[in-house]
Amino acid sequence: EALAALIAKRVLDVSDFPQAGVVFKDLSPLFADGSAFRTVIDGIVDHYGRDGFDVVAGIEARGFVIAAAVAYAVGVGVVPVRKAGKLPRQVVSASYELEYGQAVLEVHADAFVAGQRVLVVDDVLATGGTAEATLGLVERAGGDVIGFTVLLELAFLEGRKRLAGRPVHALLAV
Ligand code: 5GP
Repeated sequence: EALAALIAKRVLDVSDFPQAGVVFKDLSPLFADGSAFRTVIDGIVDHYGRDGFDVVAGIEARGFVIAAAVAYAVGVGVVPVRKAGKLPRQVVSASYELEYGQAVLEVHADAFVAGQRVLVVDDVLATGGTAEATLGLVERAGGDVIGFTVLLELAFLEGRKRLAGRPVHALLAV
């Protein structure tokens, strides 16, 4: 598929980052290419349609870039899902295992109106720990996660199995 190829050509494999034995997929070349970036964002909007969700939740930090562009394209708001200690008001918080280490994510407790349809976006779905934690956070904060979009899914890690059957839209799966 054209979108998949567009992304595949703009991913760099970086060995031993952030630690030995991990091959990190660096999507910087995609973000840096204005035409490719716009095509990818338009592809996400087309997938859901202009009335497919009420708000976009972006996962720090690369998810913010995608979330803001998708939200702007459709005219909805964007909610940041942040690493611990960054949000100034009352939060809901989740601790989870990463592919490499432990992490905590937070969202403002009043970030969503009850029943609001939330699209969660990030750059990469790997083990699914980050997405699973975000699903729990958004739902505890009153949102209704209608799906996840990622630019790249590392399908062999089977992260989507952790997302309680929520639809995962991956523009490229490897
Ligand atoms: P997971 O929790 O699914 O194992 O990891 C996904 C999270 O870690 C995402 O927020 C993603 O940005 C980051 N991540 C994990 N592996 C990679 C990778 O190879 N490349 C990039 N760009 N991000 C990764």
